[in-house]
Amino acid sequence: MTIDLRSDTVTRPTPAMRAAMARAELGDDGYREDPSVRALEEEMADLFGHEAALFVPSGHMANLVAVAAQTHPGDGLLLDEMSHIFRSERGWPERITRLRLHTEAPAESVTVACVEQTQGNQGGRVLPPDALDRHRGPTVRVHCDGARVWNAAAATGIGLAEYGARVDTLAACFSKGLGAPVGSAVVGSRETIARARDWRHLLGGRMRQAGVLAAAAHHGLREHRARLVDDHANAALLAAALQPWLEVPVETNIVFLRTPGSAPAVEERCREQGVLVRAFGADQIRIVTHLDVGTAQVTQAADVLAQVLSSTGEHSRTDSSSST
Ligand SMILES: *Cc1c(COP(=O)(O)O)cnc(C)c1O
Repeated sequence: MTIDLRSDTVTRPTPAMRAAMARAELGDDGYREDPSVRALEEEMADLFGHEAALFVPSGHMANLVAVAAQTHPGDGLLLDEMSHIFRSERGWPERITRLRLHTEAPAESVTVACVEQTQGNQGGRVLPPDALDRHRGPTVRVHCDGARVWNAAAATGIGLAEYGARVDTLAACFSKGLGAPVGSAVVGSRETIARARDWRHLLGGRMRQAGVLAAAAHHGLREHRARLVDDHANAALLAAALQPWLEVPVETNIVFLRTPGSAPAVEERCREQGVLVRAFGADQIRIVTHLDVGTAQVTQAADVLAQVLSSTGEHSRTDSSSST
């Protein structure tokens, strides 16, 4: 059977999650009459110590509506060049919200500074709480892209409310570590969330009987948060087995490897042996542990990767010596 370690988004709802979806009380969330959506939003606001929350179809939309709710066209947005918003969200800050991007220190025009927790493109690294509000000030708000904030909390034992207290808005994802099929939420003040709700509508993200999805998210929130430490232990196991190729220390559920030869070739050879991983650029491989892979499968994947990587090393050494 294939062992899919490409992303923590590949999980499928468990039978218990499907049962929770089937049981969900539903209404039209366009009229804010879906009790399951409302319950999820209330719980999210409570968990992070904010006034309100908004359920949205994706992490991408969560970031967009949170930032849009706190800016005007022409404002500056501070972003890390390695961040998901900067690299993987199709340029909405410039194309949709018409913000000016800053990637260094906050310029005068910056009204929102974005931080990411955990840092996906930097090996799932966890930021300490005081790094979240480093740029926060009288005229600068902070938005946290907390798609994997659950992993940060599980790894450090720091409470979600402590992360929440450092920021003006936070987006958290239900379809990664928590194993839900769809959805993210934004938390913030009542006023900001009302604006974010308007933006969600503007973008076509208003949903109707979304309680089936909210129930899955709510189930993940209750049942799958505590087990994230298992994903971290599995990532640590991979890191230990693949030490010679490890690119950055592993803190949560993401492992980055540096390949001696071509990363796409490593990806392909692993695939032939039933292990799916992702090439990042020419010489990096990303592996992500999640709910649908257990320790036995992770151990098996580590064996395949070690074997592929050691022989790739030999090939590339032979290649370079024969080409000179
Ligand atoms: C996955 C991810 C997103 C986007 O989530 P989608 O639900 O795929 O749109 C945003 N930020 C980070 C850090 C992510 O890992």
